[in-house]
Amino acid sequence: MKNSFYQYNFQELTQLLKNRDLSISGASLLYNWHYKQKQIDPCTKNLSLTTQVFIKEYFTFSLPKITNVHQSDDSTVKFLMQMEDGLSVETVLIAFQNKYTICLSTQVGCAMKCSFCFTGTQGLKRHLKTDEIVGQFIVANRWLRENRPDDQLLKNIVYMGQGEPLHNFDAVKASCEIFLDQHGTSIGAQKITISTAGYLPGLIRWNEEMPGVNIALSLHSPFENKRNQLIPINKNYPLPEILKYLESIPLKRKQYIIYEYLLIKDFNDSIEDAHATGELLKGKQAIINLIPFNPFPGSTYARPHKTQIEQFQKIIESYKLPALIRGTKGDDILAACGQLNTKASL
Ligand code: SAH
Repeated sequence: MKNSFYQYNFQELTQLLKNRDLSISGASLLYNWHYKQKQIDPCTKNLSLTTQVFIKEYFTFSLPKITNVHQSDDSTVKFLMQMEDGLSVETVLIAFQNKYTICLSTQVGCAMKCSFCFTGTQGLKRHLKTDEIVGQFIVANRWLRENRPDDQLLKNIVYMGQGEPLHNFDAVKASCEIFLDQHGTSIGAQKITISTAGYLPGLIRWNEEMPGVNIALSLHSPFENKRNQLIPINKNYPLPEILKYLESIPLKRKQYIIYEYLLIKDFNDSIEDAHATGELLKGKQAIINLIPFNPFPGSTYARPHKTQIEQFQKIIESYKLPALIRGTKGDDILAACGQLNTKASL
């Protein structure tokens, strides 16, 4: 059985070569070839014949297959990517001027079943493997180079696609290690954000094992009863416990926790909701991202009016908290937050 090249971090790759008495310089050559130069065929340059034979026998370089591409009027691109077992996930490129952020999926479907999220209606099929997460990045980057050659390649990564990243911690961590590595894509930790519904066991591991990478918490309500209705795992890991844990983490100066607040019309968008959120977060090293609800087929919630959203923002800001309204990029092609659903994309 061969092994996907894209699952190994730099140390593991070095160790593989060492174990076979092959020159460890092969590791930087391979990382450079595949991640910096974006080649997908096996490398032959500057490698000994025995190393080349090992690479051929040990690794596969297969990548997810793009089976559908939707391009939005605002330049957002949504890919349907098929994995080797035939299951698919969606990956989104969010455009800002000529730069892109990639929104990666981490699971096929999701187990969290948040009441406002299209992915949740699919249920969890399986976790993605490290190479399937890294593969989304490689394939999307190649697509950009071929289809929009004048634009810049990917510099920012958000783990905000299908799935709960902290529920698939090992693969997410391994993929981050690969993205961060200086021999390869060399993306800075501050350019990577993992978003969580509040899966506490994963948050603890994030803090202990990869604290440099940004974390975003889907808050959505300061009130227990409302948050329970929106995010069922709040019953297992209640918000006060999550906040207490986050509070115990010594943040560096200029390091922030991002709090996402999904705004739903007549549910959590009132003046009272805004003040309670401000009270809850005031004094914290926090950035608040307000996300107007993105509708999807069958959803019962609605997006608040613009004036309501702006009023909410002003109240949060009155607590000296930075509050940004997240655009609804790609909503015309169901590529915005919470609109990813593999079946709908087929
Ligand atoms: N599982 C992770 C990543 C999910 S997607 C998490 O829960 O954080 C990223 C963000 O989009 C989350 O804050 C999520 O709550 C939000 N979201 C989900 N469905 C949405 C919808 N229909 N409209 C707007 N935002 C949504």
